[in-house]
Amino acid sequence: MVDLKQNVQYVKSVGPTKASLLNNLNIYTLSDLLTYFPREYEDRSKIKNIADVITGEEVTIQARVISEVNITRIRKNMVIIKTVIEDDTGRCTVTWFNQTYIKQRIKRGETYRFFGKINKVINHLEMNSPIFEELGKEKNTGKIMPIYPSTYKLSQTAIRQAVENALLMVKGEEIETLPEYILKSYNLEDLQKSLQEIHFPSNIENRLSARKRLVFEELLVMQLALLELKGKTEDYEGIKFSKDVKMSDVINSLPFKLTKAQLKVLEEIDNDMESNKPMNRLLQGDVGSGKTVVSIISAYKAVKSGFQVAIMAPTAILATQHFEEFKKILEPFNIKCELILGATKPKQKLEITEKLANGEIDVLIGTHSLLTENVIFKNLGLVVTDEQHRFGVRQRETITSKGNHPDVLVMTATPIPRTLALILYGDLDISIIDELPPNRKKIETYAVTKRMEERVNNFIRKNIEEGRQVYVVCPLVEEKEDEEEQESLKEEKINERVNLKSIEQKGQENFEGVGQLEIEEMKIEAFKQKADLKAVKEWTEIYQKQIFPDLRVACVYGKMKPKEKEEVMEKFKNGEIDILISTTVIEVGVNVPNASVMVVENADRFGLAQLHQLRGRVGRGEYQSYCILKYSSQASQVAKERMKIMQETNDGFVIAEKDLELRGTGEFFGTKQHGLPEFKIANLFVDMPMLKSVQSVALKIEAEDRGLKQEKNQKLRKLVDEKLKQSISL
Ligand code: ADP
Ligand code: MG
Repeated sequence: MVDLKQNVQYVKSVGPTKASLLNNLNIYTLSDLLTYFPREYEDRSKIKNIADVITGEEVTIQARVISEVNITRIRKNMVIIKTVIEDDTGRCTVTWFNQTYIKQRIKRGETYRFFGKINKVINHLEMNSPIFEELGKEKNTGKIMPIYPSTYKLSQTAIRQAVENALLMVKGEEIETLPEYILKSYNLEDLQKSLQEIHFPSNIENRLSARKRLVFEELLVMQLALLELKGKTEDYEGIKFSKDVKMSDVINSLPFKLTKAQLKVLEEIDNDMESNKPMNRLLQGDVGSGKTVVSIISAYKAVKSGFQVAIMAPTAILATQHFEEFKKILEPFNIKCELILGATKPKQKLEITEKLANGEIDVLIGTHSLLTENVIFKNLGLVVTDEQHRFGVRQRETITSKGNHPDVLVMTATPIPRTLALILYGDLDISIIDELPPNRKKIETYAVTKRMEERVNNFIRKNIEEGRQVYVVCPLVEEKEDEEEQESLKEEKINERVNLKSIEQKGQENFEGVGQLEIEEMKIEAFKQKADLKAVKEWTEIYQKQIFPDLRVACVYGKMKPKEKEEVMEKFKNGEIDILISTTVIEVGVNVPNASVMVVENADRFGLAQLHQLRGRVGRGEYQSYCILKYSSQASQVAKERMKIMQETNDGFVIAEKDLELRGTGEFFGTKQHGLPEFKIANLFVDMPMLKSVQSVALKIEAEDRGLKQEKNQKLRKLVDEKLKQSISL
């Protein structure tokens, strides 16, 4: 039997070098390779007559070479190779650049297949740099060709070849993952055929039924896993917090009136907390809708009922900010709050963990460092996680296991449509804050191109002169794929490895008990931080030296020491910096009410959800705020559509709907940006109807066989176990 978990390097044509490139694409095993699905397809299957081709289209033609292959040197480093081909219906000139070997490969009088883009020049047709093949030896024409997502330094051909060989390895093997009865009842193609047809479709219908099956499986497994998680927590006896502790005591002490939405959500939480079922609630609300104060009030209830509270935030900056807000509101009630970060000194950490263990600390706020083994609560009753992306299910399990089935509140600023939320967060009950605190001014949003640069800069200056501050966000600088850069890249790669090594060591020292998962995340972080540093440096140079030499420009980037980072943030908060430059590696949600302008460089490179999050950094105070999206006039149509939507609405839920819609058109941003689950093949917009029907299938299976114990469901059991084991969130 073939081992699907075997290292991808053993697939024919791969080997160690290509394997490490595949690793960059998260392909480690044979199975990963088989499920690395094409992003799109190029239809080279139909052969067209020269007379029928249309300018601009990519076509396959079959034609005879009727002239000698002609080589002309037009300048240093530039050679043109030309010939003329003909079929029964017409003629076409074919041109290549610099590929002089072609002269040896093409013979006058012979017939070949050519695939490429057609140009019409005055009265004759041209094809530039086509792929060509001898008749009878076609590999790359006459078929529907898969195009794989971003392949770094791997060519499409290399990936295709690897996938083809991988498919050969499993041919005839028993690899089916779904039970027979499911395949039959829902009329699904078997896995063998589906994999074959999704990579190398014999026709469009077959590709569609392959896709249907693969999407079905992916969604079904997610749904079953979520149901299982939900069922698990419901089985336990939870904490009953005291009915005598009144949330209204804190609510009345606040300097503002809560919105109706906040009050409603608090009522739901209050009910959960007083019931004996463990709370497992998702609190959704747009940036600035006031989620933090909801968690503070919930923490009050827990502490005054005699329990401790853990608040976990994704970044040190956010954790620190929460800490300040918690202290402000809860200290007057004699509640002791404390902060623990990765950067907290060992001595201080020890002090904190001691106080935590003997109950002197009521509320502990922190980052991932809350997960470490030596963080032990005396009596943990409530866990709040503030998530940009969902923390992994396992991470949440780690933190909740520090108590005896504590209540859990998950906060997220990713607004997703309710119907979708119900399905995707099937393991959680859902509360939504769908209203902003009163008197918030709409953030004026302008999408501008290069032509407006000067006006934008004047606008920035004007705001700063009025005493305001400005954020500038730039996208990460991506690695170039240029051949010339290969050498310098090689060197960087080596440095990178060294870096990763040290991170791994650090991971083991500082994060004892945190495990492989966090180390993996830190590695990804390290890659990102390199791109982050480069981008921030470049833009800071431009803003400080070229545009605003007289203003106070500063930057933050991921690689900075936490202390330096905090210093800069502190200065920005105190108004000692006019313009703050960062990428998104430095996270959103920071509260600086005096900052009223957000400039996003290369805004067309961001997804809608992310732009919306970024915009939420301004408009937090009394001042009219602005968001300026700089985009390239050459941006894609969809990117321009995103700019338009951002100008039209401030409503996160509307934006979320539009986002899904646009993504349905094939635009794809890593789902990490959205905090939505990552899918290999499913698309939440296109596959919404499928998602709904799969959900009812999952409910039916669970009703019939809770825990998937029956013989016929053993294949599902295996899939769900694998899913639950994965580090990434569901
Ligand atoms: P979120 O976490 O949902 O993005 P925050 O909790 O950070 O939002 O709230 C943003 C700001 O609004 C904070 O300064 C908070 O004190 C304030 N705030 C929260 N609720 C209200 C309210 N009902 N009225 C006025 N201001 C509020
Ligand atoms: Mg918040």
